[in-house]
Amino acid sequence: MGSAAPAAPCIFCEIGARRAPAYVVYEDATTIAFLDIFPFTRGHLLVVPKRHVDRLVDLAPSEYAGYMGALAQSCRQVERLTKDYNIGLNQGKLAGQIVFHLHFHVIPRYDDGNPFGPSPRRPLAEGEGVGVVRDLGGPLRR
Ligand code: AMP
Ligand code: ZN
Repeated sequence: MGSAAPAAPCIFCEIGARRAPAYVVYEDATTIAFLDIFPFTRGHLLVVPKRHVDRLVDLAPSEYAGYMGALAQSCRQVERLTKDYNIGLNQGKLAGQIVFHLHFHVIPRYDDGNPFGPSPRRPLAEGEGVGVVRDLGGPLRR
């Protein structure tokens, strides 16, 4: 079921294996959640299965429960910031998928306008993630 190793080195595989840095907010045996380095809003995070699959339909049925549970747990953490958030999944280039390793976006929403407008997203500043991870109750390990 699904793809095995990616064709090229995959940054989300590297983060899942802890070989690349990330502001991790949640981790279990099969899933890792970490801050998006180019956040739409404060606390924007990505929920990623550690096993490389391109797309949701590539997950084995036996993997769905663990992945959805980790998504729900990540949402609980976001709810420490705000009860309002979007969950997004881009599948395919035309849908805006850039990283071809499955990931849900969880994007907190605040009362400060629409973050999905044309204004450019700014990169997560060095050190900024530490405070966000703390507010999300994350493990604070990079
Ligand atoms: P998508 O368009 O759904 O494929 O989104 C990919 C997301 O991954 C974008 O929002 C990027 O900002 C984010 N991203 C890419 N590389 C990293 C990284 N090394 N750490 C955290 N987020 C990343
Ligand atoms: Zn991967």
